[in-house]
Amino acid sequence: MEQQARYVIGAREDSGIYPVVVDGYPAGTIHRRHGSWFATMPGHPITGRSTSRYGAAELLVAAVDEGKRPTAPLTPAHTPRAVDVAHRSYTHLIPELRPTLPNAVRAAEAMARLAELAWKPLAGYPGADQPWLMQCLLCGWQGRRFWSHLRGRNGDPTPRPITRHPGCLLVADHAKHIAEFTANLTTTCECAEFKHPTDIHGAREILRTLSYSPAATMPYARAILEPCTASSARAAALREALNSLTAKK
Ligand SMILES: [Zn+2]
Ligand SMILES: [Zn+2]
Repeated sequence: MEQQARYVIGAREDSGIYPVVVDGYPAGTIHRRHGSWFATMPGHPITGRSTSRYGAAELLVAAVDEGKRPTAPLTPAHTPRAVDVAHRSYTHLIPELRPTLPNAVRAAEAMARLAELAWKPLAGYPGADQPWLMQCLLCGWQGRRFWSHLRGRNGDPTPRPITRHPGCLLVADHAKHIAEFTANLTTTCECAEFKHPTDIHGAREILRTLSYSPAATMPYARAILEPCTASSARAAALREALNSLTAKK
């Protein structure tokens, strides 16, 4: 007896995911990782895995039968990587702040923290108390969050707020999913086209250039703000460089 499959698996996207339609409606995506196939539906954790893409698509069919539907639009940006390396545009990440050295370093630190928490910035760092447009990499949700709510407090590394946004995956699963996204973060820059500074010497050189020549802000914003798997090491180097430069004045 042959049954018509209720799902259709779309073409593979550049990021390695395949969109899946169930009963004629977009239901989620599937992707292969370490030999297994996984399914993702924005807003609903799918914990199973399968040995085949068809089995993973069936997980989405089962979720639909449980009454689950995606809580966010499905976008090609929903990738299994911590940093969307393919997205090399950075001009929209220029902070909407005065171009001072402390502001440049704060923006780099904010970018790094977002990557550690599996958020992707969709606009330049606006300052601590302004709404900041970003995307949740766990489920694809896009919206505005306050940086003052996301950053750690007094060295406490607990991601805040505990609830990322309405409709996200279960809070109990956040740590596990965030770990998947941050597994490829590195301590040195591995970018092919551009080397981002991750030590104090490189960071100091860039801050010096910026302080002498504000006109250089645009090209150097790339070095400071562009997505990089080593963004945390870069932010730490910039902070150290800033401290050493201000101490000498
Ligand atoms: Zn989310
Ligand atoms: Zn890099």
